[in-house]
Amino acid sequence: MKILIACDMEGVTGVVNWDQVTPGHYEYPRFRKLMTQDVNAAITGAFDSGATEVIVADGHWHGTNILLEELDPRVRLNASTSSPHSMMQGIDESVDGVIFIGYHARQGSEHAICDHTWSSATVSNLWLNDTLVGEFGLNGALAGYFGVPVIMVSGDQTACQQTVDLLGAMETAVVKTAYGRYSAECLPPEMTGKLIREAARRAVASLARGKAPEPYIVDTPVIVTVDFKSSDMADRALRLSGTLRDSTRVSIEVPDMNDAYSVFRVLVVLGSA
Ligand SMILES: [Zn+2]
Repeated sequence: MKILIACDMEGVTGVVNWDQVTPGHYEYPRFRKLMTQDVNAAITGAFDSGATEVIVADGHWHGTNILLEELDPRVRLNASTSSPHSMMQGIDESVDGVIFIGYHARQGSEHAICDHTWSSATVSNLWLNDTLVGEFGLNGALAGYFGVPVIMVSGDQTACQQTVDLLGAMETAVVKTAYGRYSAECLPPEMTGKLIREAARRAVASLARGKAPEPYIVDTPVIVTVDFKSSDMADRALRLSGTLRDSTRVSIEVPDMNDAYSVFRVLVVLGSA
């Protein structure tokens, strides 16, 4: 059984604000360590339940957060950017299940630490066809394109709930309870390590018994709609051939979810430029 552990940082143990996940800030090194510990807990759980191969994708900022020297030696780490599948680098038909670690709620959520969708400076919201998604939805849909289910998520209570609501019943590890965008009741790493390890263990054990959630399949063709934070961003995104505009929303239709993933990234880059 091959497992891809796709990681972000805002939903990691103890993270409650941007400073802690921003390279260069004095707090950041602490949270790289905590991120690595969360990931190691998931790796342990996965191997305990029969995983034979585990790939880790570092998906936050420029993808250079996880401390390789402290990572479980049984895995391989996909690091840095730009890679073909970004936060999901390593996904293909050979993967049996995906685990999300350190995930966060979509932009505009209540009771959600650092809620955003890909870029808090650029993106207000993202839809795949008519479905409002966050990063969990975008990344889950790419997994679904390859026929792979998401089997577990860790993060705050809202990130976990949104992921379950969209992608189906799965194991969750709630490492903190958010009161707002920048406040939460946090569990210490000794406790979250156990929660994550046990959730990963149950998720991979269920997968081995053929009891995983269904892969999240988006209807094709896929219409990607990005609502930008301001109209100049939409102006720039409209330079991409095939785009349509409604106020600050820019849409484009593409044949499948693999293309949708790429074109979304292009729209964000254009919008941010
Ligand atoms: Zn992030």
